[in-house]
Amino acid sequence: MKIPFDNTYSQLPEQFYQRQDPVPVENPELIRVNRSLAEELGIDADWLESSEGLAVLAGNAVAEGSEPLAQAYAGHQFGHFVPQLGDGRAILLGEVVSRSGRRFDLQLKGSGRTAFSRAGDGRSALGPVIREYIVSEAMAALGVPTTRALAAVATGERVFRQEGDVAGGVFTRVASSHVRVGTFQYFQARGEVESIRRLADYVIERHYPEALQAKERYLALLKGAFGRQADLVTHWMSLGFIHGVMNTDNMAVSGETIDFGPCAFMEAFHPECVFSSIDRNARYAWGNQGNIALWNLSRLAEALLPLIADEPAEAGEKAEAALAEFPDLFRGHYLRRLRAKLGLVGDVSDDMIQQTLQLLAAQEVDFTLFFRRLTQVAKGGDRDPLASLFSDAAAFEDWFAKWSAVERSESELVAMQSANPVLIPRNHRVEQAIQAAYAGDYSVFERLLAAYAQPYAEVAAYADLETLPKPEEVVHQTFCGT
Ligand code: AMP
Ligand code: MG
Repeated sequence: MKIPFDNTYSQLPEQFYQRQDPVPVENPELIRVNRSLAEELGIDADWLESSEGLAVLAGNAVAEGSEPLAQAYAGHQFGHFVPQLGDGRAILLGEVVSRSGRRFDLQLKGSGRTAFSRAGDGRSALGPVIREYIVSEAMAALGVPTTRALAAVATGERVFRQEGDVAGGVFTRVASSHVRVGTFQYFQARGEVESIRRLADYVIERHYPEALQAKERYLALLKGAFGRQADLVTHWMSLGFIHGVMNTDNMAVSGETIDFGPCAFMEAFHPECVFSSIDRNARYAWGNQGNIALWNLSRLAEALLPLIADEPAEAGEKAEAALAEFPDLFRGHYLRRLRAKLGLVGDVSDDMIQQTLQLLAAQEVDFTLFFRRLTQVAKGGDRDPLASLFSDAAAFEDWFAKWSAVERSESELVAMQSANPVLIPRNHRVEQAIQAAYAGDYSVFERLLAAYAQPYAEVAAYADLETLPKPEEVVHQTFCGT
């Protein structure tokens, strides 16, 4: 086998998925293979780049050992429940076990219609392929749990979207799994308790094996998911990341970031910052992501209720008690991360965090540049680049006096440096890579990938990627576009 498939999801009962081969495309062209990720997965990168590999990545051939299928799931989209969503433009090719012994899904996105496509064409435009590739790889390099990019292919076919017809693409996604909160909801909506149990057992084995030791394993699974989401969402927030569509079908129970649709990194700080053109009520604003995580996890808890205890009242009480712990759990991670960004020690610092964020919001200061320059000041660098970010000098001086009064040891400096990246994928840069790709030029894409692979390093050649967009380059909205 060229790809060492070792599939488990396809062993689950038939109501979990629909078997479906990818639909071939006209004229596939390889844009890129993530060679280091391929090697880590035990896949020969040279083969992946060959015409045989390309055929598999485009969906024009089914590799030996692959058992293509579209996964079933449901989900709350912007708070409204849809009992059947499923992979409408994605195909799970199968799973591989990496060199380090971890199991991963390989999935094609944009690979044609499935039983779950509804009115959709099953395809993806090239833009979202480029976007997901750049942003998911940047997230991985930033240290955030995330799905990864194995390859991008241009299909040679046009896809029809609101903006007109554009070039199509296929993205190969690697994920610890694609089980979502919405996968549990799918069976809950059908009243299939045995399927919920099957899925929960599968998820425990794959993602939360420690729950097997617990007296109440399904409650342990739930609590495990709470811990990973609290850690994940605060990690996003600490980098100014706004997911944009935290629907329950876009929340992976593994605790990885999944679905880079209308996501964006915030520039001028504001807790209510939103980019997504479809998020009209600011449901998924930067500062609301913790509330939404809890809302989504409450849906997961509801789906697991029949497994938590036989008595509904008892199950409800146990789930409620676990959910009640989430806000403190979340706040603990949040404070830890923001303290690290500010180089603060211990509990004395909560006020300082509040004051800092208020100041940034009031003066519309760029989130990433602020923390990056603050880190330079903490290391003994020049203060002027930091001060220049503020239009109200007096307010800055006032704040700066308080921040400087805090004693910092070497360990706080190290923590600051690893919490405050030099580079994040700024929206206008991602947009430039997308526009160039549509024009057949992948050099911007390649350059961004190289730069964002080391987001904490100061590299002179990438200094231009640190800076803010020019007024005409500013991206005000992001679109799903798939
Ligand atoms: P998303 O908003 O990307 O999380 O997708 C939500 C749902 O819409 C999922 O069930 C997708 O499979 C489906 N979907 C999105 N785009 C398409 C498309 N072009 N063709 C078919 N299904 C789609
Ligand atoms: Mg999705």
